[in-house]
Amino acid sequence: MKETTKLYNIFALKCPRCYKGNLFTRPGLFVFKSILKMPERCSRCNQDFHIEPGFYSAALWISYPIVLIIFVPMIFFGFLLKETYCLSLEMMLGFFIIICFGLQIPIMRISRALLLHFTIHYVGSGNK
Ligand SMILES: [Zn+2]
Repeated sequence: MKETTKLYNIFALKCPRCYKGNLFTRPGLFVFKSILKMPERCSRCNQDFHIEPGFYSAALWISYPIVLIIFVPMIFFGFLLKETYCLSLEMMLGFFIIICFGLQIPIMRISRALLLHFTIHYVGSGNK
């Protein structure tokens, strides 16, 4: 079977230890129900996903730079569009707010996946 990269498995929301089990009970970046609900353990390798109480509060500090990386260039791009096409600032602000709400769930899920992948290292597949 083809081996995948750590980066791919972060965005695919897969278990950091086996790269096969799902991190969330509902897989995918865009879900609207049980957004942060995770199983107790990986279904494939039995890795514990609830490492310690409050573990995932650190994901907030991971999501913050992700938001900056996405939105700071977007703001500059917005000013560029405003100057080039004479768009109104209110229209640009509305556009940014829609994008903020749209990306909220994927950023929260990717932050948790990043935190787990920083903490737990790949061992291989098929290890029980
Ligand atoms: Zn696993």
